[in-house]
Amino acid sequence: MIKYVEPVSRLIAELNKLPGIGPKTAQRLAFHILNIPADEARQLADAINTARERVRYCKTCGNLTEKGNEHCRYCTDPSRDRTVICVVEEVRDAFALERMREYKGMYHVLHGTISPMEGVGPEDLTIKQLLTRLRGNKIKEVILATNPDVEGEATAMYLARLIKTFGIKVTRIAHGVPVGGDLEYADEVTLARAIEGRIEVS
Ligand SMILES: [Zn+2]
Repeated sequence: MIKYVEPVSRLIAELNKLPGIGPKTAQRLAFHILNIPADEARQLADAINTARERVRYCKTCGNLTEKGNEHCRYCTDPSRDRTVICVVEEVRDAFALERMREYKGMYHVLHGTISPMEGVGPEDLTIKQLLTRLRGNKIKEVILATNPDVEGEATAMYLARLIKTFGIKVTRIAHGVPVGGDLEYADEVTLARAIEGRIEVS
């Protein structure tokens, strides 16, 4: 196999590690980067370093926050309803729900789903932190907004059982989000309907 000069091979190898970037795309991106002005390349590298250096996870809910702020903008917003927590898989799901501008409660980001196939157990997610939030706080409802795929459903059922022992109402987002679809890709109207039409988990 013909090899590129070392710095190019290295760049391709690094880009290839990104999700959804196969060897061909990695190669295309690497050559694109080689052709952009040096300034632009530096800005790209700097944006990656800065994000990695400055971005933290909120101590309470797991959303993104900046270094120096322990809590995110949702947790520190006094106008939000602190009695409702919406549980999502990833930060980007909370972002999708935020886009519809209708949900005004709090969030809890699991950072994944329970997946025995991939060796992800409850202890690998932020479930312990969620239970801590339920203890002693005046939470009236927990909305389970994990994705409607196998792992998302299994995680929701697991959480529902745990949360109910606190005597808190547990609901699951309803129809509207296509089965097997990602919350992230659902449009705002669909998401709003999914939240509105949520059903209590019995
Ligand atoms: Zn937060």
